[in-house]
Amino acid sequence: MIKQKGILFVLSGPSGVGKGTVRKALFEKDTALQYSISMTTRPIRPGEQEGVDYFYRSKDTFEAMIGDNQLLEHAEYVGNYYGTPRDYVEKTLDEGKDVFLEIEVQGALQVKANFPEGVFIFLSPPSLEELKNRIINRGTETEALVMNRLKAAKDEIELMDAYDYVVVNDKVDHAVEKVQAIVKSEHCKRERV
Ligand code: 5GP
Repeated sequence: MIKQKGILFVLSGPSGVGKGTVRKALFEKDTALQYSISMTTRPIRPGEQEGVDYFYRSKDTFEAMIGDNQLLEHAEYVGNYYGTPRDYVEKTLDEGKDVFLEIEVQGALQVKANFPEGVFIFLSPPSLEELKNRIINRGTETEALVMNRLKAAKDEIELMDAYDYVVVNDKVDHAVEKVQAIVKSEHCKRERV
């Protein structure tokens, strides 16, 4: 068996579709994938931990990292920066391990431009109506914000064609199974003896 580089998997999709939930459920089942912990300037939330959920950094530190080209991609989302540290991704892929990113759509498009050999998975809501219900049920948004997020989601859904796969998140378990099937299939594509 020839030693190969790992595969970069990118899970993305509109806000409220359940990316974080699907990613966490996937990682309870799949221990071979390496999750790339993102960097953010947003404040830490109760229950989160530095170096587990995110690396929490100041705006100045984050901007210095952008300047030093230390981020594979970055985006501003609801007033805060989010980005993927480049070193970890490149080093882990070189070790032959698969890396998994869970990021919003702008960032995913940047990764695609720089890393076209990555595998891009779009997590889609079953319908826009369902996405609206999910955003409302989170209970954290005012009516105006719900409408803004829904408008953003419609724009994001139009970018679906740029992805290799679309996974409809009707039920978390189904979505996880489909992502696992994609991971297996991508390995078979590259398998060489
Ligand atoms: P939250 O603040 O709820 O943890 O995340 C907000 C959004 O940022 C989610 O859509 C999440 O997928 C996205 N996100 C998390 N990490 C990154 C990252 O490194 N880069 C980009 N572009 N988006 C990210």
